[in-house]
Amino acid sequence: MSFERSNIHAMQGYVPGEQPDEGDVIKLNTNENPYPAPPAVASVLSTIKVEDLRRYPPPTALDFRRAAARLHGLGPENVIPTNGGDELLRLAITTFANPGESVGIAVPGYSLYPVLTEIQACKLVSVPLDESWHLPADFAEQLNAAKARLAMLVNPHAPSGILTPVSRIAEIAGKFKGVLLVDEAYVDFVDADQHHDLVPLLRQYPNLLLLRTLSKGYSLAGLRFAYGLGCADLIAPIMFKTRDSYNTDLIAQRLATAAINAAADASKSWDKVRSERQSLCRELEKLQLTVIPSQSNFVLVTFARQHDAKSIYLALKQRRILVRYFDQERLRDKLRISIGTAEQNRLLLQNLREIMLL
Ligand SMILES: *Cc1c(COP(=O)(O)O)cnc(C)c1O
Repeated sequence: MSFERSNIHAMQGYVPGEQPDEGDVIKLNTNENPYPAPPAVASVLSTIKVEDLRRYPPPTALDFRRAAARLHGLGPENVIPTNGGDELLRLAITTFANPGESVGIAVPGYSLYPVLTEIQACKLVSVPLDESWHLPADFAEQLNAAKARLAMLVNPHAPSGILTPVSRIAEIAGKFKGVLLVDEAYVDFVDADQHHDLVPLLRQYPNLLLLRTLSKGYSLAGLRFAYGLGCADLIAPIMFKTRDSYNTDLIAQRLATAAINAAADASKSWDKVRSERQSLCRELEKLQLTVIPSQSNFVLVTFARQHDAKSIYLALKQRRILVRYFDQERLRDKLRISIGTAEQNRLLLQNLREIMLL
């Protein structure tokens, strides 16, 4: 006999990328930033005392919300801090979609979306990306036809790294009748010359919710801190009804505030990642591999049949280099490789050459 709800009993859980304990692994499998967090984070950490933890943390994380609002030119009422971006995704589903109603996603995409949708017992509407990994022209119409209450879209896209431009997101937000959550986990790594910023759209589209995380851009994946941006009416029900009263802890709030105030510092690491991305792509192409042009901190690499992706993944793993293999439709001939430091990327390429006997 099982005590679980029937849909929980029937579902599969999310399988995160491997997080090895040993330190000597070159870890290019979960898109962490290879460079350290802004120094201000370490100095604030050293000021926190155990006595500070005796009381509950500020319930609405006002200091952080003010700092994030300043960064984006919004008000604190437009910011909802969460325990990682994954919590915001869960909260968006519980706030905006009744059990039995539809939640839309584009596939392939972030494999946590279907898992969270199933936990809420919502119907999943999967819209396939086209051959070139772009959204179909009638994406919003398909979502409306399925009566989706919420749609989740990762942009830049994972695992392809392709960026959907602001104008296209605006068009979808305008047509779609539900809440459009744009998961901007990787937006910090978009090339500066794209001038990509969805925040100005928030004034125009009351159904648009943006997800930002400190895990990737700010090198703080272990802190578990992210935030949503949206118009006040969209943020309020999450802020005051569906989240846990103390969903972010005191240490996380203080460090996250320091990090966001040091965005200019963090952006130096984004520049380095972009320039490493460019060199890595060039070198991978020299190995006759196909690389999708990425605006993110990873690249999706296609292997020809004589070097099947899974064997390469296993061979790299044996050499203590972790990359991500997805046993999924459209991805079985590919590996997703996070951008590492110059030295890590050099070792990756050297090992790839040896494995592929080039
Ligand atoms: C990393 C990531 C997130 C958020 O991760 P958190 O660590 O929970 O903030 C959200 N969406 C995608 C696609 C990601 O890769």
